[in-house]
Formats: sequence, C-alpha cells, structure tokens
Amino acid sequence: TNFNSLSLSRPVMKGLGALNYVKPSPIQSATIPIALLGKDIIAGAVTGSGKTAAYMIPIIERLLYKPAQIASTRVIVLTPTRELAIQVSDVGAKLAKFVNGISFGLAVGGLNLRQQEQTLRSRPDIVIATPGRLIDHIRNSASFNVDSVEILVIDEADRMLEEGFQDELNEIMSLIPSKRQTLLFSATMNSKINQLISLSLKKPVKIMI
Ligand code: AMP
Repeated sequence: TNFNSLSLSRPVMKGLGALNYVKPSPIQSATIPIALLGKDIIAGAVTGSGKTAAYMIPIIERLLYKPAQIASTRVIVLTPTRELAIQVSDVGAKLAKFVNGISFGLAVGGLNLRQQEQTLRSRPDIVIATPGRLIDHIRNSASFNVDSVEILVIDEADRMLEEGFQDELNEIMSLIPSKRQTLLFSATMNSKINQLISLSLKKPVKIMI
C-alpha cells in the first residue's frame, strides 16, 4: 500500500512527496484512518516507527476539513522534552508546507519565554509543548488559553510520567474542553498509563503494532 489509499488531501500528499515518504509505516496505516474519524486512540509506538507523522497527518487533514473562523489554537501536542517538541514541530511544518494557513507554535522550557508569549498571542493552530511550560503560559498569560482546543496528543506518555509530569498532565487535561479527540502514544504500557488513559480518553481504539 502507499499513501494514495488513505484518501489524503492534495497539499498533504505534496508534503509527503517532499519528505520522500512513499509508503505509510505500519503505525501510520493503522492510525491515520481511525484518527480521521475523530476517535480517541491509544497507540503502542516507539521512536523510529513513524509515530509523529501518524498523528500529524490526520491532524492537518482535520484542520483542513473545517477551517477556523478566527485564529485559535485547535491542537496541543504534549511531549516530554524540548528536543522532541522541536522535532515534532519540524516534521509538522514540513507536512503542512503546501497547506495554506496552518501555523505552529512552541511552548517549551529552555527557550525564551517572552518570545514564546508573543508567538502564542497569535494563537497558532498547533502548539507543541512540554507540560510545565504550557501551564506557565496558561497561568501567566492573559492572552493564551486552551479553551478552543479540539485535539490533544500525548506523545511518549510513558516518558512523560517517568519525568514526573503526572500533575501537570492532569491539570492540562482538566483545562482542555472534554469534547475533544485525544491521541496517546506510548512505547510501553503500565498501570500508571492505564490510569491516565481512563482519566483522559473516551472509548479509545487500541493500536498495538
Ligand atoms: P518517528 O518515529 O516519528 O520519530 O519517525 C522516525 C523516522 O522515520 C523519521 O526520520 C521520519 O522522517 C521517518 N519516517 C516517518 N514516516 C515515514 C514514511 N512513511 N516513509 C519514510 N520515512 C518515514
């Protein structure tokens, strides 16, 4: 199979072409059609499986179907580290290169706070964040909130919990409207992840590759 069988939009297909992605990886074949339906997903996926595009492709498609009337942050991607956030943002921007008007923003520790505040004030469609810094922005900035978020991705959920971000995750999930799609990716599953899943996902589809 190649990406043609997934009925993706022209600009996304062009983005895939520019990245030289011809064939979806197994996690991509399994995740993309279900994510496009708006369902919650638990995916067992390690780094190197192509998990980033597995969630970025359907996210970009969903934003395209239903353009926003006003600038608003519609997607939050949570990652355990700044490095991963930057990588995700890079892949996302490349996939969305031929799509008009999808903007990305970072909210991560270790980068200039004021500059990030400026970026977030413009309400990027997709904000890629580490949990602690995202909460700082929500608490301290009158001009940023997560009220309009429609899709939440929790990437590397196991590492996120290992890093001790449980309370931050719970707080963020309580602030994002519950009428949302949640996609959770984790290399390993354990009781803490299951607890997080039962708190934050609705009738999730399990994808174990
Ligand atoms: P990830 O697991 O998201 O970190 O991706 C691992 C690597 O695989 C990255 O270098 C991606 O650019 C690459 N990659 C992801 N999906 C595909 C694909 N369908 N075809 C070729 N390379 C891919």
